[in-house]
Amino acid sequence: MVSYCPICGKPVYFGEKKRSLGRDYHPLCLKCHKCNRQLNAGQHAEYDDKPYCSFCYLKMFGPKGTTTTKIYYFHGCNNDSVIISLVR
Ligand SMILES: [Zn+2]
Ligand SMILES: [Zn+2]
Repeated sequence: MVSYCPICGKPVYFGEKKRSLGRDYHPLCLKCHKCNRQLNAGQHAEYDDKPYCSFCYLKMFGPKGTTTTKIYYFHGCNNDSVIISLVR
């Protein structure tokens, strides 16, 4: 089964895919939409279907006043996501 990279829209083949947050990325495409830092699968935040490093995510969408920020962590190869809410 071929899936499509949400960043460049091209097919991601099994041997090269990096699965994170329920999507398959090319290893080189899995980087922060803001600062272009390479991201580790399952160790980044996501907003509006774009991956962000936690730093940029918190900086842009982080807790302000009573806003709740959700960071999605993915566990390895299964699809159980854990939502960690930071409330300030
Ligand atoms: Zn790609
Ligand atoms: Zn970043």
